[in-house]
Amino acid sequence: MEEGSQKPSAISGFVKMRCPNCHKGHVFVNKSIFPLGKCLAMKDNCSECGYKMKNESNNGGGINYALTVMVLFLNLLWYWPIFGITYKDYSIYYFLLTSAGVAILLQPWLMRYSRVIYLYLFAGFGGGK
Ligand SMILES: [Zn+2]
Repeated sequence: MEEGSQKPSAISGFVKMRCPNCHKGHVFVNKSIFPLGKCLAMKDNCSECGYKMKNESNNGGGINYALTVMVLFLNLLWYWPIFGITYKDYSIYYFLLTSAGVAILLQPWLMRYSRVIYLYLFAGFGGGK
């Protein structure tokens, strides 16, 4: 995965939120999620290969929902062994509150990744010439 003429892999391009076509250009205008108001601002075209990033149907809403549900389940994996969840007290409510809080905190990333996932699905994983 050296910088240069070799095309970075689709997986590393995906993780780094790069263009689904060349895996080099950034998908988002801002590399960080801040400022939050612009965290979802996408480039119209890839700065490296000119791939059209913006698509009318690219909202990723359904994927975002799936990712959020996934985070809720992942929270269960660490919360349960550490704090324990039982029906005998309010622990299930504490878990739900904590879990919802984590999901909300992660929203900027989830929303960005849901768009990147959509882009990659649209371009075909590892696809593009
Ligand atoms: Zn590109």
